[in-house]
Amino acid sequence: MAETFSFSRWPPSLPEEQISHLTEIAATYALSHGLTYLPVGQQPRFPAAAIHAPLALFPSPIPRDLFQLAQRLQRTYNVLYARIAMDNDFLDQVMGAVEGVGKVDEFVGQLWSGWKQIRDEGVEETLHLGLFRSDYLLHENADSTLGLKQVEFNTISSSFGTLSERVASLHRYLLSATAYYETSPILAIDNFPPNTTTAGLAAGLAAAHGSYNNQSAWILFVVQAGERNVFDQRWLEYELLEKHSIRVIRQTFDDLATSARLDPQTSALRISRGDGPEVEISTVYFRAGYAPTDYPTPGHYQTRFLLERSSAINCPSIPLQLAGGKKVQQVLAQPGVLERFLGDSSKEDLDAIRGSWMGMWGLDLQDEAQKNETVEPLGVRLARERALELVLKPQREGGGNNVYKEAIPKFLDELPVSERKAWIAMELIVPPNGTANYLIRSGGAAVKTEVVSELGIFGWALFGSGKVVKDAEAGWLVRTKGVDSNEGGVATGYSVLDSIVLV
Ligand code: ADP
Ligand code: MG
Ligand code: MG
Repeated sequence: MAETFSFSRWPPSLPEEQISHLTEIAATYALSHGLTYLPVGQQPRFPAAAIHAPLALFPSPIPRDLFQLAQRLQRTYNVLYARIAMDNDFLDQVMGAVEGVGKVDEFVGQLWSGWKQIRDEGVEETLHLGLFRSDYLLHENADSTLGLKQVEFNTISSSFGTLSERVASLHRYLLSATAYYETSPILAIDNFPPNTTTAGLAAGLAAAHGSYNNQSAWILFVVQAGERNVFDQRWLEYELLEKHSIRVIRQTFDDLATSARLDPQTSALRISRGDGPEVEISTVYFRAGYAPTDYPTPGHYQTRFLLERSSAINCPSIPLQLAGGKKVQQVLAQPGVLERFLGDSSKEDLDAIRGSWMGMWGLDLQDEAQKNETVEPLGVRLARERALELVLKPQREGGGNNVYKEAIPKFLDELPVSERKAWIAMELIVPPNGTANYLIRSGGAAVKTEVVSELGIFGWALFGSGKVVKDAEAGWLVRTKGVDSNEGGVATGYSVLDSIVLV
């Protein structure tokens, strides 16, 4: 890190007229380069207008060595999560078997028991694809050095990869288009890392497709009906078509209820379309299916299980989706568990992975005192005592599900005893103080805000039958939120898209 760099003096201060001009050219660039979103209330099938995605005017500072560390860790994380997804015993143990998460969490329970039934029928998943995103925050260590700590590891529907590439281009453009953006020596092109996330993610999907036995098959994107983040998905679709000559079909779970069938002999997945003959599917890419609201009826789960039973490669398969649960992240942090999966890794790699974790425990963690039934489990007592340094997380994705700090004690008072198993406690990461940015939301002026930036590293792995066939690191994104918001998430409205300036 440049010794003179001070997080609390970022970004450079510019006169209001310059910020206003930068805002105008940033918004225009975003709209003309597909850094876009559908506005609220539009019919996705008849889009008539787009707005630009929420943006940060300046890239956010990340120490070069920590960015490189995050990139280096990704290959190990790819293998780790691929192996977890292939370890049925481990997942059964965490999810259910006796009385794990799946028994008390209806949504996780449905996925887990459906997958179990498919296994009992003797159906074997030959290949799985994971498109992953490992999320991090900078963390101020006790000795006030900076480290990198993992927020979570996503195994389903990780979004904003292709838009993030466009934000990186936007920040490069601002640097070259104006004479005054480069007001700090830090704002130099050499400190803007390349972003080729679109190609990286498409390479993963193309690798899965390439291993399927019919190269004229299509890739299926399973999407949500009201999706506003369609351009992020479309950029991936265009990349597959233009660079890999692979066609994509988009369908919702509702569409698939009537359009999807399995070939009775080969279990090949075939989709009928209104506008042409049936197509065979090589790879199913889920941009839906990560939340209970995606499964309003038992029929929706049946559709998911049909896709899982098919010979198409699922991204993710159900076990890979389950592997991405917060409970798995917490169990991994227990002594010896990482070695179960990465026994062949160097001590250095294991230490680096473990060094990226905060303290975590299950709310159902027990101790001796608990034999007296009037005493709460140790996990709950610790969560009460240390509430202000903690976040509680259930097995959910997509933002807005966690419980933070002062809200924890009351939440624990009301949480049914049986549901403790489905929640983990995690120490809060402490990012450097006082960093600001100018946040731009569609149609508005840039608002200077004190912020926290979350780095995501993308990666993919194609794996099955006990082996990782191929994997790669696949790019990055930054989401920046106001410090006053505990949560992140661009789709949920808390964060804006951002890029990196290495310091
Ligand atoms: P989701 O799967 O819903 O995205 P996350 O675990 O990423 O769940 O939590 C959502 C947001 O909450 C994160 O983007 C981050 O802003 C915040 N958060 C989560 N865990 C921590 C933590 N340990 N320390 C600080 N902030 C956290
Ligand atoms: Mg997250
Ligand atoms: Mg997540």
